[in-house]
Amino acid sequence: MALGEFDDWKIVALAGGVGGAKLAHGLAQILPAENLTVVVNVADDFEQYGLTVCPDLDTVMYTLAGIAARETGWGIEGDTFRCIEALAKLGAPDWFRLGDRDLATHLARTRWLWDGATLTDATRRLCESFEVRQSILPCTDDLLRTIVETDEGDLEFQDYFVRRRFEPTVRGFHLRGLPAALPSREFLEALDSADATVLCPSNPFVSLGPILALPGVREKVAAKAAVAVTPIIGGRAVKGPLAKMFLELGRESSAVEAAREYRGIIRGFLLDRQDVSRKEEIEAFGFQVKIADTLMGDDLQRKNLAAETLRFIRTGLSG
Ligand code: GDP
Repeated sequence: MALGEFDDWKIVALAGGVGGAKLAHGLAQILPAENLTVVVNVADDFEQYGLTVCPDLDTVMYTLAGIAARETGWGIEGDTFRCIEALAKLGAPDWFRLGDRDLATHLARTRWLWDGATLTDATRRLCESFEVRQSILPCTDDLLRTIVETDEGDLEFQDYFVRRRFEPTVRGFHLRGLPAALPSREFLEALDSADATVLCPSNPFVSLGPILALPGVREKVAAKAAVAVTPIIGGRAVKGPLAKMFLELGRESSAVEAAREYRGIIRGFLLDRQDVSRKEEIEAFGFQVKIADTLMGDDLQRKNLAAETLRFIRTGLSG
C-alpha cells in the first residue's frame, strides 16, 4: 500500500464491540487519526453497582489505545480482578467481570456523568487520557437499550449475553428508548463530513441495528458510499451469539442473511473468500460484492482488511 494512499479520506466506522473494534483498529493503522470517527453502539450499556458500564465503547477505546485484552476481547490486558473477587466474597453479583484498572474507567466516567457531562464528553475525556487520537463517539447521548425477547421472557442485553451466557432461545429484539433517543449532534456532523461509512463486522441485530435505528441515521448513511464487512465466515460467527440468533429466528446462519439486514443502506459488501459461492445471492440485493480474507487474527490482518475495504469504496463503488 502506498504511504498516504487514503490521507485525504474521512471515514465514519459504525461498530459494536469485539468485531467492530478489530476493523476500527485496522482503519486506525491507515487513516490519519483526525480522519477516522468510530461511532459505537450503546444499547448494550447497563448499570452495575451504580456505575455506567459501556462495554462496546470501552472495547473500541482499549483496542485503539493498544491495551485491550487480546484473548477475551474485553477489558484491559493484564488487569487484575481483586475488587470483583472481594465483591463475590461479600455475596454481591460478580457475573459481570470488571477488572481493577477497568473499574477506574467506570468510576471516572460515572462521576463525570453525575456532574452533568454527556456520554460523548465523558468518552472524549477518557480517550484523551488513554491517548486515543481518533474520535470515538457513542451513537447517542440518550437512553437506548436492547431488549432480547427470549423463551424465558424479555431480558436486558447483558442479562442475556453475560449472565445467561446467551443460552435462552431468541424470539426477537426491541429497543427501549425509541423514538425519543436521537443520534448525537457529533455523530450527525461526522456523517455529514465523511466521504464514506464502513459498517464493521459487528452483530447486525444487537450492535449495528441500534445505531441504524436512530432517527435519520439510515438515510444519512445511505446517501453516501457505505459498505459492510461480513460478520459471518463460512456460516459461523467468529465469536458471540450471531449464528445462534439467526437459527433461533428461523433463518440460515450465513453471510447472505447478514447482508440482507443492510438492504437500502449499503452499496457494497465484503464477503469472505470461504463464502464465494454465495456472491450472486448478495449481488441480488443490489450490492457490489468484494471477496476478501475477512478474519482479523493479528494487527496486519486488520490493517489489510481495512485497506481492502477502503480500496473497494474508492474503486468499486464509483458511480
Ligand atoms: P460484540 O458487541 O462484542 O459482540 O461485538 P460486535 O458486534 O462488534 O462483533 C461481533 C461479531 O463480530 C460477531 O458476529 C463475529 O462473528 C464478528 N467478528 C469477530 N471477529 C471477526 C473477524 O475477525 N472477522 C470477521 N469478518 N468478523 C468477526
